[in-house]
Amino acid sequence: MTDCLFCKMVNGEIKPDVVYEDDTVLAFRDVNPQAPTHVLVIPKQHVSTINDLDEDSAHLPGRMMLAAKQVAHEAGIAERGYRTVMNCNPEAGQSVYHIHLHVLGGRPMHWPPG
Ligand code: AMP
Repeated sequence: MTDCLFCKMVNGEIKPDVVYEDDTVLAFRDVNPQAPTHVLVIPKQHVSTINDLDEDSAHLPGRMMLAAKQVAHEAGIAERGYRTVMNCNPEAGQSVYHIHLHVLGGRPMHWPPG
């Protein structure tokens, strides 16, 4: 999608601080980190929200989770613990309409989330 920020990262128009990449996903540091480790994992394929997932894109969340696991191991937070979050639509606080998994760690997380 031409006007999508995260698609511009996938096609190289914008260069994020990449920490992991494979054929299906890209992971990069969040520009406004909410924890010592805050990485976003995105699929290379454009899907706007969780509500837009279908049979053809159903494999993407699993691949995003595998990447999150890898990112957490490399950041040294896998055993301490970390949180993964996907926001869907305005009331959840989604601001970029290309699905992404937040990987947050390096500090204690609170529950319930705000
Ligand atoms: P969400 O609010 O769940 O849609 O998350 C979008 C995230 O994208 C926010 O945490 C932003 O800080 C992050 N973000 C926005 N622009 C950039 C950028 N250019 N590079 C890295 N992260 C970004």
